[in-house]
Amino acid sequence: MAISLQFSRISTRTDLSVPESRIFLQRKPFMVRCSAGEAVSSSSATAGSSEFDAKVFRHNLTRSKNYNRKGFGHKEETLEQMSQEYTSDIIKKLKENGYEYTWGNVTVKLAESYGFCWGVERAVQIAYEARKQFPTEKIWITNEIIHNPTVNQRLEEMEVKNIPLDNGKKQFDVVDKGDVVVLPAFGAAVDEMMILSEKKVQIVDTTCPWVSKVWNSVEKHKKGDYTSVIHGTYSHEETVATASFAGKYVIVKTMKEATYVCDYILGGGLDGSSSTKEAFLEKFKFAVSEGFDPDKDLEKVGIANQTTMLKGETEEIGKLLERTMMRKFGVENVDNHFMSFNTICDATQERQDAMYKLVDEKMDLMLVVGGWNSSNTSHLQEIAEERKIPSYWVDSEKRIGPGNKISYKLMHGELVEKENFLPEGPITIGVTSGASTPDKVVEDVLSKIFDLKREEVLQLA
Ligand code: SF4
Repeated sequence: MAISLQFSRISTRTDLSVPESRIFLQRKPFMVRCSAGEAVSSSSATAGSSEFDAKVFRHNLTRSKNYNRKGFGHKEETLEQMSQEYTSDIIKKLKENGYEYTWGNVTVKLAESYGFCWGVERAVQIAYEARKQFPTEKIWITNEIIHNPTVNQRLEEMEVKNIPLDNGKKQFDVVDKGDVVVLPAFGAAVDEMMILSEKKVQIVDTTCPWVSKVWNSVEKHKKGDYTSVIHGTYSHEETVATASFAGKYVIVKTMKEATYVCDYILGGGLDGSSSTKEAFLEKFKFAVSEGFDPDKDLEKVGIANQTTMLKGETEEIGKLLERTMMRKFGVENVDNHFMSFNTICDATQERQDAMYKLVDEKMDLMLVVGGWNSSNTSHLQEIAEERKIPSYWVDSEKRIGPGNKISYKLMHGELVEKENFLPEGPITIGVTSGASTPDKVVEDVLSKIFDLKREEVLQLA
């Protein structure tokens, strides 16, 4: 299959440290759509105000005539285009042979669940449809559609442009009436949706339904006056969007941070890791809702998650919160103080389960392929590192070489270079890829390995 993908202009996002939900807190009055096609002025409601109901706003937006989340009837042709651009003969061969195949002196074992999840495939496909439907209109996207440089580069080539940033703030001024704006698979913060609604642009919403499910959960927390404890990274686009639909919230990235919160709830009675209110607010300064007061706002909590976190960890954090509330308020009262819905995405779970199975097998090294800002890929790398398997997380074949050298990331994002990463002689490699990684990228990485091993054989001959 002749596939030509250009890597030369690939850019890696580095601006994720800015919590974008904070950017638009002060805004002028906007229009809320009450029903399809009907716009009503709401001078009192803003995303930061107590009267504002994000759920009603979202509900009404999805029914307005400028909004689309189902595509435009070009599904077959866009899927065909994606298949030509992103599929791989090597992956096909592996699947046909029970996820294991040997090329020369390299045996490859592929995880049974890997690569593009349906939510990502759906998002990219709808974005492709938008380009087909609006061939001459300006098309903008509020963030990377998914965390994969190859796919993002492809959309750039199709003139789907990122909304420019100035000092970390998105410049929505560039968007004019008549333009099209794509919301990525992770969704968009409610403030951004409000700006776009006000501008009356065509919105193409590719938000994954699993992400919307989490938004529904935090809206339920809000309705019951529960504080959402969100297991995620506060600067990740998905968590920024989820937080924007929550009422009060605190975002915890790890079990350690969750333990700190629970220890605070129990006045230091869990492990003594927490201290004063000031220390709490300093620790979570980018990760709590405006005006958050840990003394008042942790009486009733609900758990929510960024869909790509490690499933087991989200479950553990939920259980810890539940136990904490039982201890503080009594087992019989726990339902009045703790709320939980299952919002762990199937695709994330399947990829993690397949990875746990794969790392049980004998192998010399693991290759984890996926964008370096991809959360779900980092967790696949984490599983391999925990098993002490030499594991290399790369986002493209360009990270390999010259010669037997690799630049890769570790689970926490440290960039590492290693010489002679491929052992001599016959080797077995485990391979998986993140939910936003096209098979073609995995093929390119494996092809580079095959070339290196072929050179080794020739040199020894
Ligand atoms: S990983 Fe899950 S939540 Fe994320 S896009 Fe894929 S299906 Fe949706």
